[in-house]
Amino acid sequence: MIELRGVSKTVMSGDRPLTILHPLDFTIASGEFVAIVGPSGSGKSTLLGLLAGLDAPSTGSIIVDGVDITTLTEDGLARLRGEKIGFVFQFFHLVPSLTAFENVLIPMEIARRRNPTARARQLLGEVGLADRGHHYPSQLSGGEQQRVAIARALANDPPIVLADEPTGNLDSTTGRAVMDLLLNVRRTRETTLVLVTHDAELAAHADTRLVLRDGRPVPESPAKAGA
Ligand code: ADP
Ligand code: MG
Repeated sequence: MIELRGVSKTVMSGDRPLTILHPLDFTIASGEFVAIVGPSGSGKSTLLGLLAGLDAPSTGSIIVDGVDITTLTEDGLARLRGEKIGFVFQFFHLVPSLTAFENVLIPMEIARRRNPTARARQLLGEVGLADRGHHYPSQLSGGEQQRVAIARALANDPPIVLADEPTGNLDSTTGRAVMDLLLNVRRTRETTLVLVTHDAELAAHADTRLVLRDGRPVPESPAKAGA
């Protein structure tokens, strides 16, 4: 379970403080699929980065499985991410100098997991890229790179998957396939999934939608719900 209590983020914009996320209370149950939606600049990525412990909130606490992650050191946060969180980015963020196989291997090597090579092979199979492991990111299409990134995110069997507009840089057909993969992963592995998306149809599949506008949650407009 993830619990946000009074979580906000204020940054300095020039010489003035700018609040990009106003105090937010929100609870995500284990296994829940939450879609975060809202216009560009509404604070979606900021919120996801806070959930992942990639960034620290200005106020409030973020409790992941009973641990307030805002009290953790950098090392503690890195360990938390390694064990509990898989992150999928809009622009894939693969290491360009490593093959697909090696990219999937990295998190397992950091976690000193046993049999990482067999597992990397299995994960690449799971995302439909069994025969592309030796390819470098530049030799793969956007959709294939995102599949590798999903395999990498799943490497240590995280109970929580966070995805920031994972299809935002893909054409609609490829995006659909990547989304189907993520939803399938969520079903079969029973992970918690927090997905930032612009896709209303996709958001409609979520158990819960969090709509942000100017850094604040807003009620869903009834006309759009379920659209
Ligand atoms: P979204 O993902 O919904 O498009 P973001 O969370 O990326 O929105 O950003 C929310 C707002 O905060 C935007 O206006 C963005 O420009 C601003 N912002 C984000 N990070 C910073 C920062 N480090 N410094 C100043 N402004 C920021
Ligand atoms: Mg964003």
